[in-house]
Amino acid sequence: MATFEYRCTDCGRTYSRDEVRYLCPACGPAYRPGIPLLGVLEAVFDYGAIASAFDRQRPDWNLFCPVEPEFHPPFPVGNTPLARVDRLGSELGLERLWVKNDGLNPSGSLKDRASFLVAAEAKRLGIDLIVAASTGNAASALAAVCASSGQQALIFVPQTAPKAKLVQMVLYGAKVVPVKGTYDDAFRLSLDYTAQRGGLNRNTAYHPLTIEGKKTAALEIWAQLGGTAPDAVLVSVGDGVILGGLHKGFVDLKRAGLIKRLPQLIGVQAESSDAIHRYVQTGHYSDALNPVTRADSISVTCPSNAHGARRAILESQGLTLTVTDEQILSAQAQLAARTGIFTEPAGAAALAGLIKVQDGPQRLAASARVVLLATGHGLKDVEAPLSRISIPPAIEPVLEAVPA
Ligand SMILES: *Cc1c(COP(=O)(O)O)cnc(C)c1O
Ligand SMILES: [Zn+2]
Repeated sequence: MATFEYRCTDCGRTYSRDEVRYLCPACGPAYRPGIPLLGVLEAVFDYGAIASAFDRQRPDWNLFCPVEPEFHPPFPVGNTPLARVDRLGSELGLERLWVKNDGLNPSGSLKDRASFLVAAEAKRLGIDLIVAASTGNAASALAAVCASSGQQALIFVPQTAPKAKLVQMVLYGAKVVPVKGTYDDAFRLSLDYTAQRGGLNRNTAYHPLTIEGKKTAALEIWAQLGGTAPDAVLVSVGDGVILGGLHKGFVDLKRAGLIKRLPQLIGVQAESSDAIHRYVQTGHYSDALNPVTRADSISVTCPSNAHGARRAILESQGLTLTVTDEQILSAQAQLAARTGIFTEPAGAAALAGLIKVQDGPQRLAASARVVLLATGHGLKDVEAPLSRISIPPAIEPVLEAVPA
């Protein structure tokens, strides 16, 4: 592990790793529930040390990891496949398109990467209880990791979360508290809980290592593309932490001298859950007041990492856009039928966004190397696609009854 310190993404103050836990002590206190987090911390490594120890042929990713391997849970996450998807690419006018299939993480979503690292940090700190608010996937990820390590997970989740995600959490043995309210309500409640009753809070962006965990997707993409960055990466955006994590991963690679420029990051939001998109477009933040979408994992009124997400888009010369639920479910079907990859609606939003980009003025060049991040497994929510397909009726088990 290379040494690191925390730096506030708002004021730039730096702190040693054990001097702070969640937000910047100078900026964080101005945060109140109902606005995006202030004083989100970034881990800044000794990049010179990484550059001299790093071997491109045999990458040791622990060099980029802020928690020592001895504390890691016995729960391998990440290392998900990057599939070249030429059938889909040709429909979109792209010669080099890949899907990073993060639905193949153990609990079925990219959230395993963040839960893994926060659980490692809890172990290092000697804290047994980890608390999270989640739309569903962060919670099922945390519950799974804790099952492997013998830590305790306490989960606040909207009661409307898809069944499969709730089933996962309960089976993994977490203490699950469904909340009559939104994800934002659960977020608030979990902060009150850890402030007053203890435990380590894993809320996304609030704990800085959630961003560090998610950055590993970018490091893997680099390795899987033979030690190069793609030209563009598309990702769906709710709180903006996967987007922020991808950005951090590519920034770390750049600071360590392993890439020359950042890929263009393209963030895709659901039409009704578009706070980050509007923030990028106008420079002014306001909540998404009624974030009702079938893509439950990206349904959020007040994205916790709105400021970081906007910076990631601007710095990478990327863009944001929104898509409708109809476009999301149609993209989900197209991805499944052209690539064999079944991703939940939030994952499919990235493809819906790519389709829209390819139809418009910001169309990516045919030769561009483009990666779509499929963030969660389709089996997590089969109700959503069922709303637009029909299962054929059963027949008598005789040959004459089989449709021609
Ligand atoms: C959490 C999640 C997202 C969005 O990530 P944010 O960090 O909230 O922007 C997208 N897709 C899936 C499947 C997720 O679980
Ligand atoms: Zn600060």
